[in-house]
Amino acid sequence: MMMIIVSKIHFSEIEFQSTEAYPYECCGAMLGTVLDDGSKEVLTCVSVHNQSTEDKRRRFKITDDDYRFLESKADELKMTLLGFYHSHPDHPPEPSETDLKYAWPFFSYIIQSVYDRKPDDCKSFELSLDTHTFIEEKLVIK
Ligand SMILES: [Zn+2]
Repeated sequence: MMMIIVSKIHFSEIEFQSTEAYPYECCGAMLGTVLDDGSKEVLTCVSVHNQSTEDKRRRFKITDDDYRFLESKADELKMTLLGFYHSHPDHPPEPSETDLKYAWPFFSYIIQSVYDRKPDDCKSFELSLDTHTFIEEKLVIK
């Protein structure tokens, strides 16, 4: 099983942004390193302005410019872009059809559920290239 490690500080940042953005979706990126066993360790979170022109309660969007900025930020910090997080206001942390449609291989997708402006469940997924579905990965908060 794949694993992503997030420190308590970074995890509370994701929770904080998710509650701040409520009832809209927040989004951001995780930068860090890939450990020898393939696990990812998050060392920095970068929040990204939700650029969706659709309903921001159900959609988030990371533009190509955001993506390029994040890649160069990762280079600058000598880190790797590990994936993206976003919130699901009043919905469980299960990837939507749209989440799947825009998913890239390798990246981790952390989904933080928020009900009533309070952080709820949080899960992380990675795209399987074989089946083109999301596989849940182990989210370790330490
Ligand atoms: Zn989603």
